[in-house]
Amino acid sequence: MSGQEPDLDTDLEEISYPILRLLREYGTPRRGLLAFGLFGGMFGFLISLIPPTLFGTAIDTVFGSKALSLPFVPNSLIPEAQLGQFHLIIGLIVASYLAEGVLSWIRGYGLNAFAQRIQHDVRVDTYDAMQRLNMDFFENNSSGELMSVLNNDVNNLEEFLSGGATVFVRIVFTMLGISIILFSINWQMAFVSLIAAPMIAVFTYWFVKTVQPIYSDVRDSVGKLNSLLENNLGGIKVIKASTMEKIEREEVEKMSQQYFDTNWRAIKTRIKFYPGMRILAGTGFILTFIVGGYWVINDQAPFFFTGELSVGEFVTFMLLTQEFIWPMANFGDFVNMYQEAYASAERVFGLMDQSQREEEDDDKPDLQVREGVVEYDSLTFGYDEEPVVEDLNFTIGSKETLALAGPTGAGKSTVVKLLLRFYNIDAGQIRVDDQDIQDVNLKTLRSSIGYVSQDNVLFPESVQENIAYAVENATKEDVVDAAKKAQAHEFIQELPEGYDSEVGEDGVKLSGGQRQRIGIARAILQDPEILILDEATSDVDTETEIKIQEGIEELIQDRTVLAIAHRLSTIKDADKIIVLDDGSIVERGNHEELLEEDGIYAKLWKVQAGETEDVSDYFLEERQ
Ligand code: ADP
Repeated sequence: MSGQEPDLDTDLEEISYPILRLLREYGTPRRGLLAFGLFGGMFGFLISLIPPTLFGTAIDTVFGSKALSLPFVPNSLIPEAQLGQFHLIIGLIVASYLAEGVLSWIRGYGLNAFAQRIQHDVRVDTYDAMQRLNMDFFENNSSGELMSVLNNDVNNLEEFLSGGATVFVRIVFTMLGISIILFSINWQMAFVSLIAAPMIAVFTYWFVKTVQPIYSDVRDSVGKLNSLLENNLGGIKVIKASTMEKIEREEVEKMSQQYFDTNWRAIKTRIKFYPGMRILAGTGFILTFIVGGYWVINDQAPFFFTGELSVGEFVTFMLLTQEFIWPMANFGDFVNMYQEAYASAERVFGLMDQSQREEEDDDKPDLQVREGVVEYDSLTFGYDEEPVVEDLNFTIGSKETLALAGPTGAGKSTVVKLLLRFYNIDAGQIRVDDQDIQDVNLKTLRSSIGYVSQDNVLFPESVQENIAYAVENATKEDVVDAAKKAQAHEFIQELPEGYDSEVGEDGVKLSGGQRQRIGIARAILQDPEILILDEATSDVDTETEIKIQEGIEELIQDRTVLAIAHRLSTIKDADKIIVLDDGSIVERGNHEELLEEDGIYAKLWKVQAGETEDVSDYFLEERQ
């Protein structure tokens, strides 16, 4: 099954400054946590520079001949004796490590809490924005891609906000702290030690520019691969039945190879970056060692340098140069995370801003269903330019059943979807008890209409929750009562845990007939004034068929029903039948009248009733 080309990105709105927007919209309410985390990071990284600096100072003073003086410590507190000074230094180093530990916890807590909460909020908001999009959007984009926004993209944001922020604070404050200390000790040596920094910046810029387009290719090929795999797993029955395994294997192999190739390009660039970083960072370290070494050995400034450098200062330089290699090398990680987060935030906000959404129309009046009369008035609609249904006129009277018949592709499902306002009507009106469905709010419209579809969706919950899906506060008695009417009670009782049995993908497996009856029970419990019945033609044994039929009869009693009928009995007993062909009504009447007319319906009927097989496939109903 060749995968649908993922085109999600083209369907999303363009977003400018997505990271800024993330911080503004989601970060602002949590700024306390961010500040807490940044405070921990900032002071933690600064304090981590104290031990190496103290060690250098100790070499010159405690172990050498210079007098000990420390910034921020009054001279009166510094002991005279060598051992006393040594103990003071030990105390200060121990205190630094302890403080660093506490501050590192503060940073971890603050930044993670900040990122996790934002991740949660963004995920919920993105899901909510997504579920309000038009049906068009869902038809154009695979659920795999949408899942990937909700999972990967939202997770990338979290990773950036916690990991990226840590790396960022570390780079900024370690570099800042080291620069201040080194420049205050010996500004000439500081230049030598920090000479690599601008080179690292230029090199990182090169890396980012090179890797950016490659990462975008990688994401593209991951999307294609995922959507192919998803399609194939979803269609595994068809693949097996058509013995297409070999061809599908080749298809997957091709896509996976594409992914491999692009990813390998990305990896090749990345693995050049890290060694390059190390070499540049190492250059600073080696230069410091050479210059400082000559300076100390000869006890005078080498080359064109001037001034003095003690052994302790040299040691501090060596230790601190080491310290800045790592944050700088992490700079690449930060850029990576930033890039990924940028692309993810673009997709997340692109989805939130997608304009193809159902309008917020809670301010429109509620639909008031009194008689339940549904009228289609000169209705014309097309998914794109071409009209799919044209100038439809029909009325379903109060508590009547109207069946739609006609060949596949005639427009039956479209007629039904329009009543639920899945799409906007191009011309004409649909009215429910004289109210144009465009002029009432979606919420009351949809909650007045029940929908029993051919592929009844079960959620991974208990049978009871599945039946009570659309009804708040349904009691167990209500559920059992509905199940009894839907002829589902008996088999439910025989499930391992009865009404508490979990169904859905990981739960008990139910047959098609059982799922249908759960769907019928759900609709009976919901008790809508108007019902859409998209019946299935699944193969069930006669006994099950009779039970389903009884359930349906119970269900359609006393309501207005619009049915896409596949069951002979439902069509036969319908008050009205409309035969659609190519988007127009070609015949209308009740069963007897239509048989007499001897047109399309009569032919369809004869085929379905098994009276003849002499009718072209065109008229045969198929499940879509
Ligand atoms: P039926 O239910 O009678 O089989 P449909 O209402 O599903 O017919 O389809 C009517 C026509 O509209 C078909 O030609 C079909 O290809 C087209 N169609 C259905 N759904 C869509 C869609 N989401 N986007 C574009 N065309 C569609």
